[in-house]
Amino acid sequence: MLAADHSRLADDIAAVGDAGARWLHVDIMDGHFVPNLSFGPQTVADLRPKSTLFFDVHLMLDNPQEYIEAFIEAGADQVSIHVEPDYDIANSLARIRNLGAKPGIVLNPKTNVEAAFPYLSQVDIVLAMTVQPGFGGQSFDQSVMQKTIALDAYRNKNSLKYRIQVDGGINLETARICRDSRVDTFVAGTAFFKSDDQEQFLSAIESMP
Ligand code: ZN
Repeated sequence: MLAADHSRLADDIAAVGDAGARWLHVDIMDGHFVPNLSFGPQTVADLRPKSTLFFDVHLMLDNPQEYIEAFIEAGADQVSIHVEPDYDIANSLARIRNLGAKPGIVLNPKTNVEAAFPYLSQVDIVLAMTVQPGFGGQSFDQSVMQKTIALDAYRNKNSLKYRIQVDGGINLETARICRDSRVDTFVAGTAFFKSDDQEQFLSAIESMP
């Protein structure tokens, strides 16, 4: 959603659904944890009745624990929170689940994968950022693939079922690299909206073996 035209969000989000996507990824930024601002709960609440997409809300906040209730009340189906800020992560993930949403944990590109390990039994999804978050249109960090492979190995070893998601610089070329590195869930913003055929773009990613 960050890469949409913010003056016509409802129309651009309808295009996401029309192109065959099942999820809408919503990047929430606070100007502190990341050097940009984006949307608040009101935006999510206003879009909720206009879309049947699964709302995948990614909180890039210094104090995500203070906004969990607001975004779930607004209509988030999934809430992912970063491992880097100093707050009670385990409690926050438990609250997300207790409030009826799916919890996720997020790693910045330079954060070691081991930082997520204590929380992996609690989550439905792990998001490995493939750019430093803050702005759309940055280039993809291929070294993050070591982490997605490690997350898959940990998942198998511990019989867990979380998804492995990437976010940042995803296009058809980088999606192929991610798919080969055990990624099953892709966030695409700039490449999707710039695509001449958005339906074809999504089906090309979805059909990658
Ligand atoms: Zn995101």
